[in-house]
This record gives sequence, structure tokens and C-alpha cells, in this order.
Amino acid sequence: MDGPVTDAAPEGPARVEGAPRGAPARDLTGLVEALRRIVGERWVYTSEHELRTYESDGLLQYHVIPAAAVLPGSAEEVQAVVKACADAGVAWVARGAGSGLSGGALPIEDGVLIVVARMKRVLDIDLANQRICVEPGVTNANVSAAVGPGFFYPPDPSSQIVCSIGGNVAENSGGAHCFKYGFTTNYVTGLEVVLPDGEMVQIGGMELDHPGYDLLGAFVGSEGTLGVATKVWLRVVPSPEAVKTLVAFFDTTRHAGEAVSQIVQAGVVPGAIEMMDEKAIEASEQMANAGYPVGRGAALLVELDGAERECEARFEEVVGICEACGSDDVRVARDETERALFWKTRKAAFPAMGRISPNYFVQDGVIPRTKLPEVLERIEALGKEYGMIVANVFHAGDGNLHPLVCYDGRNEGEAERAEELSGKILDACLDAGGSITGEHGVGVDKKKHMPKMFGEPDLDAFQRLRCAFDPAGLANPGKVMPTPRLCGEVPGPYRQHPLEAAGLAERF
Ligand SMILES: Cc1cc2nc3c(=O)[nH]c(=O)nc-3n(C[C@H](O)[C@H](O)[C@H](O)COP(=O)(O)OP(=O)(O)OC[C@H]3O[C@@H](n4cnc5c(N)ncnc54)[C@H](O)[C@@H]3O)c2cc1C
Repeated sequence: MDGPVTDAAPEGPARVEGAPRGAPARDLTGLVEALRRIVGERWVYTSEHELRTYESDGLLQYHVIPAAAVLPGSAEEVQAVVKACADAGVAWVARGAGSGLSGGALPIEDGVLIVVARMKRVLDIDLANQRICVEPGVTNANVSAAVGPGFFYPPDPSSQIVCSIGGNVAENSGGAHCFKYGFTTNYVTGLEVVLPDGEMVQIGGMELDHPGYDLLGAFVGSEGTLGVATKVWLRVVPSPEAVKTLVAFFDTTRHAGEAVSQIVQAGVVPGAIEMMDEKAIEASEQMANAGYPVGRGAALLVELDGAERECEARFEEVVGICEACGSDDVRVARDETERALFWKTRKAAFPAMGRISPNYFVQDGVIPRTKLPEVLERIEALGKEYGMIVANVFHAGDGNLHPLVCYDGRNEGEAERAEELSGKILDACLDAGGSITGEHGVGVDKKKHMPKMFGEPDLDAFQRLRCAFDPAGLANPGKVMPTPRLCGEVPGPYRQHPLEAAGLAERF
């Protein structure tokens, strides 16, 4: 998903006449010339056909063409680019691989997109201290590849072969192994960051904990609103001695959910525990050809890892629990090839949905694990009410649901209805005591749902944190916060914000 790396000569002015852009053009010629001086002509794109590559992230329902995309090759170049934007008062958005699913890397019209995909160097590996330092464009999978086979980096988004560590940091990304191992935030020990005024700072370092306020914790998950991460220090852990993986099939998700509860109650902590429902099995099987039985209500993938003897013993226990909960088809991976096939089938679930539906929304909500059966039933009822298929794939151990709302965008109004249904699924998660996002972030997509979870004082506290890093409001404006506000602006009666006047943001 990286952008076009071409030798094509960049074209003319920042704004292309006749390009389908809504807001009034702002003359960015001076800034674009400065960007070209910083990174070289080759790495600044301003023509519409090049910029189209960047108009969306993984949330394809939104698209905006920026005034320019710039691809710096080093931290120093990022710093100079951000400083040039600050001096010109131009807003910018950082982008890694563009695989985000909440519109976080959606560009700003009349803004600059700072794409860090060229920054792919592994800077240091210190296995004696279980650390690796990488540039932000390194993919998640390449971190484990760099320290393997003796060590690995546990957070593993299903997009791991393309998504960047910078994006993972910004989204506090999770993945299948997070139930046992935790999220990105549990592995980032230090960051080098270019702040929105162009200053470069280091937060944290090699050590696990720092005195003072947890600014590292504030930056991880901040969705590109506090600065650009240019260097990331990560903790890696020893690879387990043994790994055992099974897939168990059940007639219903309720039975599979019961097995999840019993496994956890028995004190087993699986490395991963993932569920797919009937529709997700059907779609994934079409793509992966793993021989999964189409028509079964649920597939539960359970992976145990750790010391060989413990793994063996507890694995038998897990097989017994699955059978006691109604599974009559438990398949144990006989070797690494079969294990890889089980995982390929699970990780294919999102893209495979395209085989059974022309369009779909990936939803991302969290519920307490024990509420799985009732929330799944509510999702099914909502699907029936809207006459739409909702397939479910989820990190069952964390209660992190990924309902996939299928629709046909060619039918008038169907996309809007699918979005409405997605919103009602989030309401169901909140009613069950959960959250509007587990790992995909708020971005542009879910900011309107933030007030359902947070009161005005909470949102105000978030805003003040954001302003401490970015008083001019140039870093990824219009994302995360439900109502755009100037730094220093006191919440109160409505006054139009300059970003609204410029058509860059709207209130809900
Ligand atoms: C098929 C598929 C499966 C997925 N599975 C998972 C999953 O299992 N778990 C999960 O958590 N996510 C998953 N995702 C979502 C996505 O891959 C993650 O959110 C990932 O971390 C995004 O990384 P990226 O490099 O693509 O970031 P982008 O999409 O480029 O950007 C995401 C956000 O990070 C900001 N950003 C990017 N780089 C930087 C930087 N250097 N400094 C500051 N801010 C920055 C951007 O401004 C934006 O707000 C999946 C996506 C797809 C398409």
C-alpha cells in the first residue's frame, strides 16, 4: 500500500486546475518549492494522478486529495518538512502504509501528506537487552523477521506484512496475540518525535520505565495528532519453545463462545484465541482453500505457546473443553505448514469478504468477553432488521469484535444504511459495557461516536493534551475529536471554527 515511487517529474503548482477538489484553492507554491528543496524533486507529488494513490487509507468510503504528498527519507527531512508546514501555517497528515481502517491517514485538502514509507531502516538490534530500534516505515512483520528466530515482536495486526510500525504506534495496534502478550503500547519503550512546530524530541528510550508523566503512553494511540514518530525503540521477547495450534468447529457462535469462557476460566492463557462465524468461514475458505467445512456456525482457532511440557498438557485440556462445549471437529495443526494455513485462513477474513459482497464496512468494537453471546445475537437481529449480512471475525479472548457489514454500494442509499447499522453495532457494544474501538482507532470514522463514550470534561481534557503538543492545530486536524476546537477555546455556545469555515471539518 506504499505510495508510488516513480521517477516522474513532479508537475506544476500545488493545485491542479479542474481537479475535483471542493475547498477553495490555497496557493501553496512557496511551500511546495521548500518541500522539493528538502527532500528532492523526485519525492514531492502534486499532480492529481499521483496523489490519487493517497486519497484513502484502508477505509475506502472516504477520499480526499491533498495539495501535496511528500516522502522524506530521514528523520531530519521529516523535521524540515514539518517545520516548513509550521512556518506556512499549513496542516499535515502523517501516513505510513495507509492500511488504517478508521480514516486516520485521510489527507486534508490544501494540506500536506507526509508519507514515511521510505524510512524502512532497522537502526539497531540489541538482543542482549531485548531491544530493536527502527525507522517508522519498517513493516510490523519485518521487526520479527529482524530479530528472529530466537526472538519475536508480539503485537501482530492481520495487516502485518504491509502496515508500518509508525502506524502501529499511532493506532496502538493489536492483533491475534494481544490477549496473552498485550498491545503496541506494552512494547514501545522510546520514541523520537518531530513535534508540530518542527522541534525534534526523544520520549523514553531503551529502558522500560521513565520518571515523570507518561508522555510515551500519551503518544502511543494518538493517531498522528501529536507529531510524527521518526524512530521507535521496541521491546522484543524470546520465541516460545513450543507452539500448538488447533481449529475447532461448532454449530453456533454461542457454543464456541462458551468454549472461550471455559478455556479462560480454567486458567489457560492462549497465545491467541480467534473466532469466525459462518459467513466469515465461507468467505475465508473461498480464498484460502483450507478445507474448512462451509455451513458450520463457528470456527475457533486456539494457539498455545510456551514451555513444551506445559503446552502439551494444557493443549489436551483445551481439546477436551472444545469437545465438551459441542465441537465434533477439532483439527490440530500437524506441522508448521498446516499452522500457517490455519492462520492464513483467519487473516484472510477481511479481504475475503470481497468474495461474498461488493462492499463492506469493517467495524471494531469491544465488549466484556462474557457478553459475547448476547451481543452476537443483537448483531444478528440488527442484520435481519436492515436486511444485510453481517459476518463476524474477532479476537475472542479480548472481546474485540470485527463485524463486517456487507452491502452493495451500487444500490441507492445502501452504503448509508450500512453505516447506520455499523453505528448501532457500536451502541450494542457500549450498552454491554464496552468501547467504540478496540484497535483500529477513532480517525475520521468514529469521532461522531466519541461523545457516547466520553463526557464534555473528558473531551476537554483530551483537547488540552492535544494543544500542549500542537497549539496551532496543524497535526491531523479533523480527526479523533468530535468537535473541532481551537487551542484555548472554551467549550460553550456554538461558534464556527476556522476549520469548519474552510470546509476541513464538520460538527455532528
Ligand atoms: C486487512 C487488514 C487487517 C487489519 N488487521 C488489524 C489487526 O488485526 N489489528 C489492528 O490493530 N489493526 C489492523 N488493521 C488496521 C491497520 O493495519 C493498523 O491500524 C495499522 O497500525 C496501520 O498502520 P499503517 O502504517 O498502515 O498506518 P496508516 O494507515 O498510514 O496511518 C494510521 C494512523 O497513524 C498515523 N501515522 C502513521 N505513521 C505515523 C508516524 N510515523 N507518526 C505519527 N503518526 C503516524 C496516521 O496519521 C494515521 O492517523 C488491519 C487493516 C487491514 C487493511
